Amino acid sequence: MKSFNGGFMKGIRIIVTYQCNFLCHHCRYRCAPYKRGFMNQDEFEKRALDAIKDGYNNYIIIEGGEVFLNPSMLFKYLKKIKDIEIKKYVVTNGFWGNLDIYFRILKNLKDIGLAGIILEYDYFHKPFIDEDKLKGAIDKVLKNDLELIFKGILLTDDISTYEDIETLKEIKKLMRPINCKVIFESTDKKFRTEIHKRWTLDEKLILFKNNA
Ligand code: SF4
Repeated sequence: MKSFNGGFMKGIRIIVTYQCNFLCHHCRYRCAPYKRGFMNQDEFEKRALDAIKDGYNNYIIIEGGEVFLNPSMLFKYLKKIKDIEIKKYVVTNGFWGNLDIYFRILKNLKDIGLAGIILEYDYFHKPFIDEDKLKGAIDKVLKNDLELIFKGILLTDDISTYEDIETLKEIKKLMRPINCKVIFESTDKKFRTEIHKRWTLDEKLILFKNNA
């Protein structure tokens, strides 16, 4: 994605909850089903607008946890920044892929400014989701004419582990019929720095403070 790997983009990643229905081994924010709470919409607005004023104004990524566990909060967040010209994305694990109502939810989110969905999938997510749900999520995103981006974790920079080989294989399989972008992140600090240099150098991370 040009906007994420051009090197000159300044954006915001805002972690609004640590609640997730998955329990991935590598989860950066240690999200889990037993964690509760979402960032209040007024706090979201204030912290996002402050960051935008500071020049982080190319994109905003709303992330958790799994934000789609509470779509009404997502609507509230997007309404708060509805009139701000910034590309708006949401990260999700796609658990809702086989739930028809999410087609309409995505449509309504697009109507209030959502630009795209970042779908997390890799070796570590695989035990928690089946392919049909993923395909359903992809279908709903594309039929709503939203941008689709995959996001996966790699453990090595030379794809030398079994997990990484599986991740690449799985993502390639899903991407084959469609034309979309992939973001790879790493759990390894050195590697993360290198890979992120191209697209998150100027990203402001805002964390929900109630890590209950
Ligand atoms: S789906 Fe994402 S947020 Fe949830 S546990 Fe896995 S990595 Fe963490």
